[in-house]
Amino acid sequence: MDAEQLREYGHKMVDFIADYYKTIENFPVLSQVEPGYLRNLLPDSAPNQPDSFQHVLDDIQAKILPGVTHWQSPNYFAYYPSNSSVAGFVGEMLSAGLNIVGFSWITSPAATELEMIVLDWLAKMLKLPEDFLSAGQGGGVIQGTASEAVLVVLLAARDKVLRRVGKDALEKLVVYASDQMHSSLQKACQIAGIHPENCRLLKATSSTNYALSPEFLSETISQDLTIGLIPFFLCATVGTTSSTAVDPLLSLGKIAKSNGMWFHVDAAYAGSACVCPEFRHYMDGVEEADSFNMNAHKWFLTNFDCSALWVKDRSALVQALSTNPEYLKNKASQANMVVDYKDWQVPLGRRFRSLKLWMVLRLYGLENLQCYIRNHIKLAKHFENLIAQDPRFEVVTPRIFSLVCFRLLPVRNDESHGNKLNHQLLDAVNSTGSAFISHTVLSGKYILRFAVGAPLTEEKHVNAAWKVLQDKATSLLAESL
Ligand code: PLP
Repeated sequence: MDAEQLREYGHKMVDFIADYYKTIENFPVLSQVEPGYLRNLLPDSAPNQPDSFQHVLDDIQAKILPGVTHWQSPNYFAYYPSNSSVAGFVGEMLSAGLNIVGFSWITSPAATELEMIVLDWLAKMLKLPEDFLSAGQGGGVIQGTASEAVLVVLLAARDKVLRRVGKDALEKLVVYASDQMHSSLQKACQIAGIHPENCRLLKATSSTNYALSPEFLSETISQDLTIGLIPFFLCATVGTTSSTAVDPLLSLGKIAKSNGMWFHVDAAYAGSACVCPEFRHYMDGVEEADSFNMNAHKWFLTNFDCSALWVKDRSALVQALSTNPEYLKNKASQANMVVDYKDWQVPLGRRFRSLKLWMVLRLYGLENLQCYIRNHIKLAKHFENLIAQDPRFEVVTPRIFSLVCFRLLPVRNDESHGNKLNHQLLDAVNSTGSAFISHTVLSGKYILRFAVGAPLTEEKHVNAAWKVLQDKATSLLAESL
C-alpha cells in the first residue's frame, strides 16, 4: 500500500465516480446487454504484468458500464431503491481505507462501540421500545442484508424453543408468515432445518390489502397445536415487497406472545419512512416484537450494505451463534465486558459498516432525512394522480409509502389478455432504457410496480416515465385491436 499511489488513484477514481453521477442520465437505466457479453470483451486469464490505471479506467468505461444497471439513476423505479449518498459513500470509503475486520471488540473497539451507539441512535429515531437499546438486555447489530437478519433470529428462536422442548423436536417446529412475506424467510427455514411443510405462508388477499389476518393465523396455530406441532416463530412485515402491505403488528404480536413464539418484524423497505412521526403508526405494536429489522441501504441514504437488526434479548442470538476457539480468546471477551458481534451473525469477519450510517446521520440529520422520505412519498402520490387521470389504467392497491402498484386495464375484461398486455408494457418501457420498472403478481393479476426512492429522482423524471408508459400503452392497445 503506497500512500502516494493511493492519493493519485483515489483522486482519479473519485473524479471518475463524480463524472459518472453527473452523466448518469445518459446511460440506459436498465442495462441492455445480452447474457455472456463480457466474455467476448475480456481476456481468458489475468495479466502477468501490471496494467496501467488509465487502461483499467478505459475498460470500465467501455466494457463494464454498458453491463451496469444504474440503480442510482433518477429514472430507476424498479424493485425497491438502494440508496447512495455523499455521506454514505465517504463512510464506505473510510471503511475500505481502514479495512479492519471487527469480529470481536478487541479487533477494533471503535467498530463495535460505534455500531452499538449508532444503532441506539437509529432505534431512538424510530421510537423503538427501550428494550431494544443496548443499555439493557437487547441491542442492535448491522447485518449485510434483511435475509441474514431473519436467518439469525430464526436460528436464535429455534434454539431457544429446542432448549425448552428438547432437541429431537426439530421436525415439529412451525414458522408462520403471510404469503406476501419476502422469500428470505423461506431460505432461512431451509438453512435452519425447518421441515419444508412446516413453513406456513398464509394466504393474504385483497380483502385485507394483502396483510396477514390475525384470525386466520389463530385458526392455523390451533390446528397445528391439535396435531402436536410446535408453533415457534412468526414473521410480520411492515411494507411487503410486492405491494407495501402492512401486517397488524399488535394483534399478531399478542397471538405470538400467548403461544410462546418469537415475533420478528421485517420492515426492510418501509422502516425508513417510520422516522417521520406521521408514518410511525405503521410500526405500532412493535413493542410485542422480539426483533425488528430495517435496511438503511434501501431508502435511508446509506450505501449498500447496511441492514439494521435489533433484538430484545441478545443472549438468544449469542447462545445460537457463538463459538469460542482458543485463537480468538482475549481478556475483554473472557471477562464478559464487551459485545463481540461475531456471535450475532453468521460469518466471523465483519466490516466497519457503522461508519457510513454514522456519517449519514451526522451529515444529514433527522430533519433532512424526514424531508427526503416525504419528498419521495409526494412524488409517488403525484404518479398515482397521473394514473387516476388516464382511464386506461388503474391503481391496484392503496398506495401507502412510495410504491405505486398499477396496471393497464385489460381490453374487454379479458384477464389473461390483461396479464400479457402488462407484461408487454413492462418489456416495452424497460427496453427504451429511459425508465426501469418491475412487476409482481397479486391475486393472479400481473401488476406493474413504480417505486420512487432513488436520491436523484425529481418530478420531471416521474413525468417522463409516465409519458413513456402512456406512449407504449397506446401502441400496444392499437396492436391488440
Ligand atoms: N424484506 C423485504 C420486505 C424486502 O423488500 C426485501 C428486499 O427487497 C427483503 C426482505 C430482502 O432484502 P435483502 O436483500 O436485504 O436480504
